[in-house]
Amino acid sequence: MKSIKKITCLLLSVLMVVSLAACGDTASNSSTTPTPASSNPTGTETKYSPDVQAIVDRGVLRVGVKNAVIGFGYQDPLTKEYSGLEISLAEKIAEKLGVDVEYTAVTAATRTELLDSGDIDCVLATFTITEERKKNWDFSTPYYTDYVTVLVENSSGIKSLKDLVGKKVGVSSGSTSAKALVKAMIENGVISGDGFSDDTFDPATWTTGVSFQQFDDYPTISTALSAKEVDAFCVDKSILAVYHTEGRSYIEEKFAPQNYGVATKKGSGFSPFVEELITGWLADGTIDSLIKENNLQ
Ligand code: GLU
Repeated sequence: MKSIKKITCLLLSVLMVVSLAACGDTASNSSTTPTPASSNPTGTETKYSPDVQAIVDRGVLRVGVKNAVIGFGYQDPLTKEYSGLEISLAEKIAEKLGVDVEYTAVTAATRTELLDSGDIDCVLATFTITEERKKNWDFSTPYYTDYVTVLVENSSGIKSLKDLVGKKVGVSSGSTSAKALVKAMIENGVISGDGFSDDTFDPATWTTGVSFQQFDDYPTISTALSAKEVDAFCVDKSILAVYHTEGRSYIEEKFAPQNYGVATKKGSGFSPFVEELITGWLADGTIDSLIKENNLQ
């Protein structure tokens, strides 16, 4: 009897210890698991930089995104819902901060103005990292690499870079496209490199072998291509895919790798926060899965 009592007692105390340990676990979870507002990307408790704290205090992360690039940043015209790799990344950054996300549709020409003016906190909009741009804005490690190519009407007979000699090409203002095309034509021996300078190249004045018309947005270039106002439409393949309708084709070549990064204000305390998240999601396969989910390669 005594030993039964002893065992019962022992069992009870074991149970108590186990349940206390379980309670302790829950308690420590809630105290050590940081609330989103007090966590950094690694999940350890830390004090935010003032730039990050400002976003947390506002309760909203404001992100510049594309609204017509399927798979990257696309707004459904009916539901108004945004989707794509860049939308998912924006949502995940906001989630880490414990704030809502608000999208502003941007173009290649407007995204930097909006970032500079403080209307948006970051840009996730097929924004290619270049040495020149890095002087003015911070960029995260690339989350995606695309290439530039050229879309033409089949009826034009244009099939490759050499067929673009003497043609007028539609490009977006503020994009890398015109310079990338001229460099590719020079590298392929299609035009001479005389007068080309990486630092001073201007699509508005370039007329050696090929010329450019700059547009504010991509739908307008597509319309100009149909109307034969331009002979070709040049930009990243991910963007061109939206306008690759029946009767149109890409030229044979693709060139100029375009590394897309998250852009933030130069020197902002938000830049290292974003960088840590992006590198973490590259390392743990999150970005790879998002690329697959969005049918990008
Ligand atoms: N990705 C290229 C750039 O950053 C093409 C333009 C665009 O993203 O709209 O210049």
